[in-house]
Amino acid sequence: MQLVMATRNAGKLREIRRLLAESGIEVLSLADFPDLPEVEEDGLTFADNARKKGETIARQTGRLTLADDSGLEVAALDGAPGVHSARYAGTGSDDQANNRKLLAALSGVAAEGRQAAFVCVMALCSPAEECHFFRGLVEGEILPAPRGEGGFGYDPLFLVPEFGRTMAELPLDLKNRISHRGQALRQALAYLQRC
Ligand code: IMP
Repeated sequence: MQLVMATRNAGKLREIRRLLAESGIEVLSLADFPDLPEVEEDGLTFADNARKKGETIARQTGRLTLADDSGLEVAALDGAPGVHSARYAGTGSDDQANNRKLLAALSGVAAEGRQAAFVCVMALCSPAEECHFFRGLVEGEILPAPRGEGGFGYDPLFLVPEFGRTMAELPLDLKNRISHRGQALRQALAYLQRC
């Protein structure tokens, strides 16, 4: 079976490829379809954006497609950056700029007020059918300074209390075991294996 991952995010792809490594599913990405236009992520929710990416790419490629829309929700910031996580510091912003903006937004906020969650919604879409949705969430706390070299995005600032380490300090397999993405993908895989 082949599955198109509707993403250009190298961090997401690395994690998803590892999670599906033993599944027998061949993972294609948008790099295999270089001529497809960008899908604008203008939805109000993770599910809206996952559906838009999944439906569009399934239609354009004619193949079974999995779209991941994910992000960081910080309670003290009323859920921001949320669906704007990838471009929190402005269109085209990179992970460092986004992390700097997050630290600035939380400056002066004590540890008890820095609770956050990573959220992932995956939409599994085929060209002819309705999409199916799968959701994962992991809770943590935003540190005042980055730690660790692994992962991507906000991982160096996201402390996982259970391990006393940031997501960027966890080995990939351990991140995948607990992460929002790992949770959502295991549900999608179980669904595919039932079909
Ligand atoms: P999307 O492409 O709109 O789904 O944007 C996802 C953004 O959320 C990424 O660019 C990161 O900034 C953030 N994000 C999602 N998942 C993770 C994760 O596992 N670690 C760190 N940041 C993440």
